[in-house]
Amino acid sequence: MKTFRLNVIPGDGIGVDVIREGRRVLDRIAEVSGGISFQYHELPWSCEYYLKHGKMMPADGMAILRDCDAILLGAVGFPGVPDHISLRQLLLPIRVEFDQYVNMRPVKMLPGLNSPLKNETMDFVCIRENSEGEYCGKGEWKNHGQADEMVMQHSIFTRKGTERILRYAFEYAKKNGKNHLLSATKSNALNYSMVFWDQIYDEVRQDYPDMTSAKMHVDALAGYFIMHPDRLQVVVASNLFGDILTDLGSAMLGSIGISPSGNINPARKYPSMFEPIHGSAPDIAGKGIANPMGTFWAISMMLEHLDCKEEADQIMTAMQHVLREGKAVTQDIGGKASTTEMTDAILAVL
Ligand code: ATP
Ligand code: MG
Repeated sequence: MKTFRLNVIPGDGIGVDVIREGRRVLDRIAEVSGGISFQYHELPWSCEYYLKHGKMMPADGMAILRDCDAILLGAVGFPGVPDHISLRQLLLPIRVEFDQYVNMRPVKMLPGLNSPLKNETMDFVCIRENSEGEYCGKGEWKNHGQADEMVMQHSIFTRKGTERILRYAFEYAKKNGKNHLLSATKSNALNYSMVFWDQIYDEVRQDYPDMTSAKMHVDALAGYFIMHPDRLQVVVASNLFGDILTDLGSAMLGSIGISPSGNINPARKYPSMFEPIHGSAPDIAGKGIANPMGTFWAISMMLEHLDCKEEADQIMTAMQHVLREGKAVTQDIGGKASTTEMTDAILAVL
């Protein structure tokens, strides 16, 4: 029997609702697999915690978090607490401390979803740089309030950081039987960062002669997502470009409640973190109507990362079954079921 230790951060709003259902799915997986089990360590770190304690997590938070096989996160955010607090005090420190330099988001059309696109064939993965680039947080604000006031927002692209994300994307493609990769650039306008990115892309691709790959300006690529989603297989992008493209990707599936995201430390020296991509959605928090599918998909990604491919596939199959039937689905994807009823349907299939 293999026991996985999971640090679970439900967070705020519907994060709490969907993580509760996620644990039910994990418990059922443990029951039916017979070979694995889960030990949960639930951590109350959230914006609510911040309002009580003046910080998002205790001083020894990182040490507590590190001691596990993986981290499962709901969502953090609360009206009255600025978004940058939860980002700067919880999410970014976790990504940096645990060297989760890969952000992975699958975009795969599942049955029963209502894509706003005419061309509904899509099954690709976006791989986003998650540790530096445009989100390095460095810059300068000069001459506050003066006529010559100005700000500078820096981007940092290191050779190490750029090479490892590009190499990860090529390796991922190779391992997963994909033979086409697109690298997002904008080297016509960003004459340092993206010229550098392209140069390293040109170096790395030499090691993958069997892979068809190309660079595409990010603006053109956004259009390509809409026009030809069926031609995409693996997309690799910087932190900012990846952020925008992945949200576009999830919108293409028809609901923000479906998509998962993995913040991955490929070396497995530190835990990786998995989460649904939606936020805390205060407007529907506690109403029992949040779609839990993004969390189930995130759990499936987590299990795959933990080398439990069979169990990961079981979850995806159960989700597809429930979506195809369309009886027990939540309002955001056109049904009437509650969060719990949708989970019940998944458990029944499992
Ligand atoms: P945050 O500040 O934490 O990002 P938010 O209010 O921006 O929270 P989002 O998650 O970005 O919330 O979602 C925007 C809207 O989409 C929500 O207000 C909600 O109505 C809807 N939504 C988000 N997630 C889900 C879900 N899992 N199921 C159903 N509807 C959802
Ligand atoms: Mg939001």
